[in-house]
Formats: sequence, structure tokens, C-alpha cells
Amino acid sequence: MEFTITRTSTPKAKPDETKLGFGKYYTDHMFIMEYDEGQGWHDGRVVPYGDISLDPAAVTLHYGQMTFEGLKAYKNPQGRINLFRPDMNAKRMINSNKRLCIPEIEEELFVSAVKTLVEVDKDWVPSVQGTSLYIRPFIISPEVSMAVHPASSYIFVIILTPVAAYYEGNDKELHGSRIWVEEEFIRAAVGGTGFAKCGGNYSCAMIASANAKKYGCEEVLWLDAKEHKYVEEVGTSNAFFLIDDTVVTSSLTGSILPGVTRDSTIQLLKKWGYKVEERLVELTEVLEAAENGRLKEAWATGTACVISPIGVLNFRGKEHPINNEKVGELSQKLYDTLYGMQTGTREPEMEGWIVTI
Ligand SMILES: *Cc1c(COP(=O)(O)O)cnc(C)c1O
Repeated sequence: MEFTITRTSTPKAKPDETKLGFGKYYTDHMFIMEYDEGQGWHDGRVVPYGDISLDPAAVTLHYGQMTFEGLKAYKNPQGRINLFRPDMNAKRMINSNKRLCIPEIEEELFVSAVKTLVEVDKDWVPSVQGTSLYIRPFIISPEVSMAVHPASSYIFVIILTPVAAYYEGNDKELHGSRIWVEEEFIRAAVGGTGFAKCGGNYSCAMIASANAKKYGCEEVLWLDAKEHKYVEEVGTSNAFFLIDDTVVTSSLTGSILPGVTRDSTIQLLKKWGYKVEERLVELTEVLEAAENGRLKEAWATGTACVISPIGVLNFRGKEHPINNEKVGELSQKLYDTLYGMQTGTREPEMEGWIVTI
């Protein structure tokens, strides 16, 4: 598909790169493409950033038929722009779409749409240490209908927002976060939509953050929906535990979001010779290991944070510190390696992970 590009005649002033926050500023352009039954995806184009108009009866507004993705673009030392494994986001969106009865977007079409938009707004990729351009592709349905059924028309949109370093407030250093083990609310159940990136997974999870905050925690450790026995994810990140010399993480049971950073972490660890187990991980196994010193490190993985070490698990008000709340060696090594590859300050250890625009 050939994309048309319509440039804005009123470019915005660029924000201060040291005060970006997350999602406060949006670039000059967006990508948009329509789907209609019988016609498929059509009219992919870059247009000036602006409002989308929806009928109040649009299906998405009522029944949440939508999916999204999240990835980042970084300025490399040569002044060019790096994407990290965008094919993985394309593949995941295909799986999310299948679950939500939304027509698939081919991998190549998705990746070329991302590249085209980022190229047009390349001056918006910030270069201050730790900053990046966050890329948000999403699909909604503008179809007017009150009936609960899959829509026959959709729009695919990509927007871009320059974002601050995740650790902006902490001298850009990694630090151990405090995590609340959530027992009352669940994020996703097997058979549901946990593996898909769709809006409903996040609206239902917000209530648990209040519990976490009440106990002075930043994030929630989700347990499985059925037995509240197995650890699943940390907030909107995947969870890893280094017990003795083995790294364990929850297998992709159907209620786990298959993170690109999770997959990259597993591949790197295996390459470095670590034993990695993807399996059901019992909460009691993790807490006991924390108590008897066998839990050496724990961390969360995701595009936003890359690697976020876990300093404390709070279960029923009792605190279980991990590695004396310090950042572990392996967490730091993973962060340095992944972030170094993404920003092009290190040779990529894996072939094909970095796509340069
Ligand atoms: C997006 C997301 C992740 C992390 O995925 P990445 O591809 O590594 O960014 C993990 N868990 C949830 C619930 C997510 O939405």
C-alpha cells in the first residue's frame, strides 16, 4: 500500500526535552487507515495531528472493541532513529485483533506505517539521556450500532508522544520499587483477554492501584484469577525472579501479556548461559525464597521501564525485602544491555532486533 503524506502547515513548538513527562505532548502528524468489509484496510495516510470525530453510537465507545500497541523510537549516536523489534508488536496486534474479532493488519503493513510516520516526525525524537518517542498504534470502530456484534468498519491510528526517562525523578538511576501483592482484584482470567492488548484489561485493573498506594506501594503484583496462588504480572509489566541461580517467570498461560521485553530478556539470559524456567510460579515459593535468602533478585520488564527492579513485596501488610532493596547485578546488566541496544550505544547482541530508520 502506498501511503500519502499531508504535512501540517502549522508545526508546533517542540517541548523542553528535560520536562517531557509521559503523554503530555503529541507530534505534528498521525497515521490513519480505514477498514471496510469487502474492501479490507485502505487509504493509509499521514495527516496533521488532530481530532477524530465519532458518532455517539460508535461501537468502540459502548462495548470496548479496540486493541492497541506500544513501542519506542530512540535517537542513536549517529543521529538516526532506532526501533526495537517492531515486528513483534505487529505480530502481537494480530493476536490481540483475533481475540477481539477485529480484522488483522499484516505485519509488513503495520511496520511500514510505523516507519513512515516516525520518519515524517523524526525531529520529534528527543535526544536527552533516557528520553524516547513513544509510539501508540490503536484500532477502534466508528461503526454506528447498539447491537453487540463485531463491527464491519474500523480505523487504525498511530500517534507519537515524546516521553521522559522512566526514572526521571531518581537521577535516572534504576531503583527498587515497592510492590503490593493484590489478592482481592484480578487482572485477567484464562479464556479471557489477558494475552491481548485491549482497553478493557486496563480499566478493570485501575482499582487495584488504590490498594497499592494505600500501603505505600507503586505497583501491583497480580495473581492468577482462579486460585490466587500463582504470580502473573507486575502492573503492566512481566515479572521475573532470580531464585538461587535460576530465573523463573510465568509461562504464557493465556492470562499473561506476552511482552516484547519479556521475550528479549529470556533470549538474552539463555544466550548468557542462565537457566530460565517459564512455568507456573507460586507466590509462596517466591515469598519463602525471599525469607530464606534464595531470592537474589526480582524485576519487571516492559517497553516503558525496560527493566524495573523490585525492592519489596508487600503481602497482607508484611514487607518482604529483596536484595536489601538494592538493584541487583543481573537487573542492571539486563537494563544496560537492552537500553544500550535500543539507543545504539552498544552493538546489538541479537540479529534483527534493531530497525534503523
Ligand atoms: C504492554 C504490557 C506488558 C509489556 O509488554 P512489552 O511488549 O514488553 O512492552 C506487560 N504486561 C502488560 C499487561 C502489558 O500491557
